[in-house]
Amino acid sequence: MFGGGGVLALLALLVPAPSPPNLAAGQALFALTAATGLGVAALSIRRPGALRSERFDTLFMVLGNLCALTSALGEALHFGTTYSEHVALWPMVFAAGFLGRRLLWVQAVLTPPLLALTVYARSLIVGTGERWWIEALVLAVPVVVTGLIIGFFRAAAEDEAEELTQQVGTDPLTGLANRRALHAEFGRLAARVPPGHRVAVIMLDLDHFKQVNDRYGHRVGDEVLRCFAAVLRDHAQPHDLLVRVGGEEFVWVTAEAALDPVMARVEAARAAHAAHPDARAVTVSAGLVCHEASEPLSAGHLDDLLGRADAALYAAKAAGRNCLHLYGGPRPVLEPA
Ligand code: GH3
Ligand code: MG
Ligand code: MG
Repeated sequence: MFGGGGVLALLALLVPAPSPPNLAAGQALFALTAATGLGVAALSIRRPGALRSERFDTLFMVLGNLCALTSALGEALHFGTTYSEHVALWPMVFAAGFLGRRLLWVQAVLTPPLLALTVYARSLIVGTGERWWIEALVLAVPVVVTGLIIGFFRAAAEDEAEELTQQVGTDPLTGLANRRALHAEFGRLAARVPPGHRVAVIMLDLDHFKQVNDRYGHRVGDEVLRCFAAVLRDHAQPHDLLVRVGGEEFVWVTAEAALDPVMARVEAARAAHAAHPDARAVTVSAGLVCHEASEPLSAGHLDDLLGRADAALYAAKAAGRNCLHLYGGPRPVLEPA
């Protein structure tokens, strides 16, 4: 839009004007439109993120309205005509399509007075009738309504996309995150670990879960999985990451200043599940690994941490199940409950 407006203003400068009301002023306004439009277009090509950054939202809105005003007045002064009425639509469509939702409303409120000002000033320049306000009204209503309709569809599409993203990253059986969401969520968690805290990754696996399915059927097996997910939620802290990574395998990522409270929470969750009436006496084995605080954590560490937590889980299974193993530990950290 900025690029198109800038090019149009440049072209207008090249078109001969037979009887301009004020050639110099018209040329100055077209030059200003061209410089602003092409400048913003160049900025958004050089820094593609700028248009999506809320930092520049208000500036772009102001510049868009400025271009619409200068081009409309430039036309009146340069050619003595008022053909560029559609240009009034551009700042509104721009706000609806690219700017934050709050600025769409600001633009909707600003548009009628700005259009009234433009149409009034043009009527003075080209000497059209006194009913300039009718033209302004007829122009403003469809412009604002069009912008609001575009804004409505954009908001609906964004909400839907957000819901789909949420669904894609959620395990439908337990409502926990799924493996697909694990990397992105881990990156987010890693970025906001409080100073002095260490991230622990715990891999948990239900013991002899296949026997539950064999004995009670798949539906009861599903209930046990949901029960364990609920137990995990009860024992997790608000910013912890809980993921069902496979059939009866779960990953719990948490951050604490010390290891003991993490282990205590894992043990409490294991005990609570084993004692839960819906758990069908299914016990849980777990492997835990802690990220060393000396190096900053990033999403790139996840696969390594998962591998080590899995090795600890394997050791817990080999040690007789129903226990928690710490990665690198010689034996189960806590004896079977
Ligand atoms: P181990 O103690 O060694 O982990 O033995 P296990 O029986 O728990 O492990 P195994 O890998 O032999 O079996 C896992 C079972 O989990 C097999 C599969 O039927 C079951 N399972 C996987 N996904 C689901 C699910 O969504 N619902 C139900 N009900 N069962 C599932
Ligand atoms: Mg299992
Ligand atoms: Mg398993």
